[in-house]
Amino acid sequence: MRQLITALALILAPALAQAAQPILLKPARVWTAEDAGPPHEGWGVLIRDNRIAAVGPAAGLDATGAEVIDLPGATVIPGLMDLHSHLLLHPYNETSWDDQVLKEAPDYRVIRATVQAKATLDAGFTTLRDLGTEGAGVADVSLRRAINDHLIPGPRLFVATRAIVATGAYGPARRNYSPDADLPQGAQEASGVDEAVKAVREQAGAGADWIKIYADYRVGPDGSTQPTFSLEELKAMVDAAHSGGRPVAVHASSDEGMRRAILAGVDTIEHGYGGSEATFKLMAERGVAYFPTLTASESTSTYFGGYVAGKTPPTPAMQAAERAFRLAMKSGVTIGMGSDVGVFRHGDNARELVWMVQLGMSPTQALLAATAVDAKVLRRQNDLGQLKPGYLADIVAVSGDPTQDIAATKVPVLVIKDGVLYRRP
Ligand SMILES: [Zn+2]
Repeated sequence: MRQLITALALILAPALAQAAQPILLKPARVWTAEDAGPPHEGWGVLIRDNRIAAVGPAAGLDATGAEVIDLPGATVIPGLMDLHSHLLLHPYNETSWDDQVLKEAPDYRVIRATVQAKATLDAGFTTLRDLGTEGAGVADVSLRRAINDHLIPGPRLFVATRAIVATGAYGPARRNYSPDADLPQGAQEASGVDEAVKAVREQAGAGADWIKIYADYRVGPDGSTQPTFSLEELKAMVDAAHSGGRPVAVHASSDEGMRRAILAGVDTIEHGYGGSEATFKLMAERGVAYFPTLTASESTSTYFGGYVAGKTPPTPAMQAAERAFRLAMKSGVTIGMGSDVGVFRHGDNARELVWMVQLGMSPTQALLAATAVDAKVLRRQNDLGQLKPGYLADIVAVSGDPTQDIAATKVPVLVIKDGVLYRRP
């Protein structure tokens, strides 16, 4: 009998967590991400079950039966999103990318990823689009399931599984190893329309929410970045993905790689460091969103390019990233928040927001990128990314006012995801 009760308690525990008492948040101010306006002083947010029940002047909110959480000096904002992450990677200055793929057991990588998912949620990032497991198979699908089943704490995940690269284009680069070595690869290789379409369908079948494709990589004879897939291959993959209801994210750093991806009809472009003005204008025209990954550029420059923050000038790679970001802003491209975290430490995602402001966005624009804009890219603008009645209760409180000082996003004091309180003052 006791065993039965224990078993029942285990089964019911997640359900009971959902039906917890209402929560009333009383911060200094609330920023809803409904528009670029300032935060509302003296407002509160009422949460019932896993949804936002009401948002407005705190005095007017019905707190009957609710747990009231005072957050003096803090600002309540929608849970932050980072739409370019790699939970199955860790910083390259700890272990090189090649060594992670070649020497770390997939099981070890998954265990690390669970810890990294918790660090992300604790940092106030309640949603990630995880763009490729980098050699860890389809482990992101199980990670998503374990989080959704409340087995481990972590952000909402939209996953891409293995990602698709042209044959011979990705890493570990075979030219760096014995030609006799049978090297695992960081993504699924494909060549020709048939194989490429098959790869899309295999990844969709394995549980991908998004399809991630590399339109270029360091394949030039001198190691330079060159386009990989043909326009025909890209178009076939995009059609196969879209026909199955999945959007497409494309890694592209070269202008030609970006151009082909845009013409093929992709949904988002990642990095874009070498994009020309004409190409960014084409992105704006076609409604392709841009994820600048500025912190990745800074991080690799720090690890391998001798960059020291505040002491050395930006490296050429950082200058290229800055140029692309400013060009995208000027061209009216939709810019979302995607950092490429994993290249740097999980939980440090807010560094990207600080960069976006440093390179010309207002703090409010950067916050919108990481909330309402990212939600729209995910096609979840009707239940995520804003603080509105009926929306899912993914909510963060940060110390201070992030619309004045974006660095406030580095100091989360409260984290709620799907109505569950994960971090409190
Ligand atoms: Zn990436």
